[in-house]
Amino acid sequence: MQDCIFCKIISGTIAAKKIHETEDIIVVADIAPKAPIHYLIIPKKHIQDIRFCNQDDQKMLGNILLAAQYLALNMLNGSEFKLVSNNGKSVGQSVFHIHIHFLSGGGNYLTNAAI
Ligand code: 5GP
Ligand code: ZN
Repeated sequence: MQDCIFCKIISGTIAAKKIHETEDIIVVADIAPKAPIHYLIIPKKHIQDIRFCNQDDQKMLGNILLAAQYLALNMLNGSEFKLVSNNGKSVGQSVFHIHIHFLSGGGNYLTNAAI
């Protein structure tokens, strides 16, 4: 989608630190990390937020959680982690393409996150 930062990262128009990639998902480091480890799990399909998903997105939605598991087990030595998803402007969403924040590595955000 034009004018979507995450679509531009997925197409390579905007550079990002890529952590992991599968057929339907990309994981990049957040440009303004709120935790020692702050990744964004982003589906390649442009969808505004979870409210706009449908049955066709079932596999992709499951793959988001499996990507989080992969990061923890295969890239972060089994680390504990937190997932946060903002769905709508009033709850803090600023990029309107579905993404899940993956947070790890310790710090206050673990107990009172306002991501
Ligand atoms: P939201 O506020 O929508 O839940 O999260 C959007 C996240 O995207 C923010 O944490 C913000 O720092 C991150 N972000 C915004 N622009 C870019 C960018 O160009 N590259 C990367 N890697 N992250 C970005
Ligand atoms: Zn997009």
